[in-house]
Amino acid sequence: MIAEIIAIGSELLTPFRQDTNSLFLTERLNELGVQVAFKGVVGDNRDHLVSVTRIALSRSDIVIFMGGLGPTEDDLTREAVAEAMRLPLKRNPDIVADLYARFAARRIKMTENNVKQADVITGAAVLKNNNGSAPGQWLEGEYEGKQKIVILLPGPPVELKPMFVEQCLDRLRVKVPQQFIATRVLKIALMPESECDARCAPIYKEHNAVQTTILAGAGDVQLHLKASADTMEEAQQLVDDLAEELEDELDDRVYSTKGESLEQIVGYYLQMRGATLAVAESCTGGLLSERITSVPGSSRYFLGGAIVYANDLKTSFSDVPPMLIAEHGAVSKEVALALAEGIRKRCNATLGVGVTGIAGPTGGTPEKPVGLVYIAVADGKKPEVVERKLPGDRDRIRFYASQQALDMVRRKMI
Ligand code: AMP
Ligand code: MG
Repeated sequence: MIAEIIAIGSELLTPFRQDTNSLFLTERLNELGVQVAFKGVVGDNRDHLVSVTRIALSRSDIVIFMGGLGPTEDDLTREAVAEAMRLPLKRNPDIVADLYARFAARRIKMTENNVKQADVITGAAVLKNNNGSAPGQWLEGEYEGKQKIVILLPGPPVELKPMFVEQCLDRLRVKVPQQFIATRVLKIALMPESECDARCAPIYKEHNAVQTTILAGAGDVQLHLKASADTMEEAQQLVDDLAEELEDELDDRVYSTKGESLEQIVGYYLQMRGATLAVAESCTGGLLSERITSVPGSSRYFLGGAIVYANDLKTSFSDVPPMLIAEHGAVSKEVALALAEGIRKRCNATLGVGVTGIAGPTGGTPEKPVGLVYIAVADGKKPEVVERKLPGDRDRIRFYASQQALDMVRRKMI
């Protein structure tokens, strides 16, 4: 069965309000084994609403509308859905009485426009609203000769969520074939999305039963796998089989297979090895430390370090020889290595990390352009340093640099 969710409200077409209800509904539907195939946002315009309703009913088995059920002139969902389905609206006297009672209980006079909330599409069951005035509606009806489930829910999340959970879930459960959905997330650090896809596509093309989505961020690619089946074991097997083949292909580039963040994984490895970490950060300005310490329990392996923006501090806090800076510049392989080894010794840590670079947007030169970053990891035996020319703006460059540093620590610990 295919579900479609339509959010209604002109405010949702502005940059100031976002449709969040559909995320909640999608999660609940997925738990029932129902996939959401289409999602839409429509303004408070009757003609647009009618046309969107017709399209939705022509392609989806379950159509959920939310918003536009209130008392005001621009609340048009009931009218539009009734028109699209060619079903008349009927005023429900019980709801009218409830509305009057609601206002009377608050000692305020009800304005006449409120009664349109009592208009019910012929054949629909009323969904009681325990947290607001506009009731919802549940309708099982035919459209173009096919059976459809149509649900009308109020827009405010505090009203929609309990109404859906308490009055729609059980009704849906008996209507949809029992299906289970299993998911897996593989996270890959520092691989271009295109390379990841080129390597993985031939594999997931062989697994038609699993839906694969690729999501890319700064220095991070995620492969989301999802499969549905008659039993949870079957669904899980489908995603696990594919995950295993993808892991074989990507090998140690996969840092997480159960949804953990890179900083969590780094912490996990450091702890497992009984190792400690110290950092000397220039261009990341503390971002690396912030990410490491965002993990609960990080005090077990993270000792601390220094933010060494000024050259003097690179020397006084991390023992970088002034001559080295004068000779190679603060943004250089040599200084990154000296930062890593200096902070490691100063803090008496197993591993030291040094980061130095040009985050921009100013400060670049032809030899040392914006985005040039050196990241070093020292372990007292075999120090490593990489040079990267990172793309994007200041935020992206800094994040990417922290990602690179974390991944180097991870690889040292594997
Ligand atoms: P309505 O039911 O159209 O009167 O919507 C009332 C309020 O609910 C709106 O002003 C929004 O703040 C909120 N709302 C409506 N639709 C959504 C949605 N899809 N996601 C989150 N909030 C919503
Ligand atoms: Mg509205």
